Amino acid sequence: MPTTATTGVTDVPTETVDAWGMNTSSKSPVIRPRSVDELRTALMQARKPGSCAGLRGAGCSYGDASLNSDGLVLDFTGMREILAFDPETGVLDAEPGVTIEQVWRHALPHGWWPPVVPGTMYPTLGGCAAMNIHGKNNFQAGTIGRHIREFDLILADGSMRTCSRDLEPELFRAAIGGFGMLGVFTRISLQLRRVSSGDLWVQPITRPNLTELVAYFEDHWEASDYLVGWIDGFGGGRGVIHQAWYLNPDEDEATKRTLTEEHQDLPARLFKVIPRSWLWWGLWCFFHRPGMRLVNAIKYWLGRRSAKHLRRHRQALVGFSFLLDYLPGWKHAYKPGSFIQYQTFVPKENAVAVFEAQLRLAKEHGVQPFLGVLKKHLPDPFLMTHAVDGYSLALDFPLARDGKDRMWRLARAMDDVVLEGGGRFYLAKDSTMTPEVFEAAYPDEALRRFRDLKRELDPASLFQTDLSRRLLTPSTR
Ligand SMILES: Cc1cc2nc3c(=O)[nH]c(=O)nc-3n(C[C@H](O)[C@H](O)[C@H](O)COP(=O)(O)OP(=O)(O)OC[C@H]3O[C@@H](n4cnc5c(N)ncnc54)[C@H](O)[C@@H]3O)c2cc1C
Repeated sequence: MPTTATTGVTDVPTETVDAWGMNTSSKSPVIRPRSVDELRTALMQARKPGSCAGLRGAGCSYGDASLNSDGLVLDFTGMREILAFDPETGVLDAEPGVTIEQVWRHALPHGWWPPVVPGTMYPTLGGCAAMNIHGKNNFQAGTIGRHIREFDLILADGSMRTCSRDLEPELFRAAIGGFGMLGVFTRISLQLRRVSSGDLWVQPITRPNLTELVAYFEDHWEASDYLVGWIDGFGGGRGVIHQAWYLNPDEDEATKRTLTEEHQDLPARLFKVIPRSWLWWGLWCFFHRPGMRLVNAIKYWLGRRSAKHLRRHRQALVGFSFLLDYLPGWKHAYKPGSFIQYQTFVPKENAVAVFEAQLRLAKEHGVQPFLGVLKKHLPDPFLMTHAVDGYSLALDFPLARDGKDRMWRLARAMDDVVLEGGGRFYLAKDSTMTPEVFEAAYPDEALRRFRDLKRELDPASLFQTDLSRRLLTPSTR
């Protein structure tokens, strides 16, 4: 494999590194350290003139957050050891490349579940901490940062800091959600959640528009463990909510069985016949506007039917939490194009108006979302938090190979509406933001403090990504 001179790094094979949404990629030398010592050696390479280090977990961020066209990519999938787990307390210590999947497989048989999970089980703990991810329970559990007890962080000069709410509290609040700009997580200590069953109670509910969906969330969030809304972007914002609760200790007569991996594992075949890995081919036939209009309509009507006939029912934690993993490779249905996700977080008093305006703008620009997801959020204490006291709407937009200009014009129009409504964006999903929008979306004081920390801890800007170069002006990188 060739080596690259443009990045200042030699003797390291160059690879194509893709964004998860397939909408951009970089050609970079990639090093996969397997230990802290190997990481320190890799950082020496990255310090060579003309280079820098972009950190990468499983690469599940939709845009350019873990790409680095101007330097080295440090990929942590080789540091994937669970270092310690106490089945009495549910505290798990792990290397940064340990995935959410590894965590649940290790801990669930002992009655512990990751307190916050994204919609897929493949991200790493390092990537989840760096983006301070949220789940369908954000309004109850907060972001993953709330459950991180402590971490070790290697700084740009190679020194290590141990951070917690008591030790280095400011760095603790800044590195969680700091999108890999302040240092490398090399150990994360996470408090898991006790569960007395491997199942949840789940209740589907349909509502004809966004106003009623949000009203349902407002009326029921205090008495729910999970709430998530699927939105039909073609149908003006009607949707299906899934409300879920953990089981009480006396509700599962077969706890031992429901906590097993066998009970949780998604079936390899649909209806015991069709391999799940084939399903995206079927989906591919519908991945155009008329097809997805139909799929969304069918999904809504099926949701109505099951809401009527299927009252509260039980579903395995994995099936409920990682629905998208049921369809391995589903993103390839967007080919030969790709897609972006545009997720906005808006204070609750403005959420419906802003989300309705977004859907209206999408229709006017002729780029309608194939998938929409509504969640409820709470503010959190982390410096670069994306969460607000309100709601988020995540919209998946197809990106035809010649469709970039149109999509970016739509993003600019939606940015204005979101900013007017006091909203924010999420770096893990972002592909379209400009430095001006980034500046406007975050409180001045938070941005100033983040930049000060970056200058103090990483004066030569060792840690960079395509995303950071896109959003942070050179004087503040
Ligand atoms: C299908 C799907 C569903 C999703 N659902 C959700 C959801 O419900 N909620 C949510 O919040 N997110 C969701 N995400 C986004 C995902 O959780 C985040 O992008 C997460 O950061 C991905 O982790 P990763 O290991 O793939 O990290 P990457 O995407 O590789 O990197 C993410 C960031 O972490 C940094 N980083 C990686 N490793 C380290 C390290 N060791 N130290 C310091 N920084 C590091 C990178 O530089 C980058 O800035 C979803 C993604 C997908 C693909």
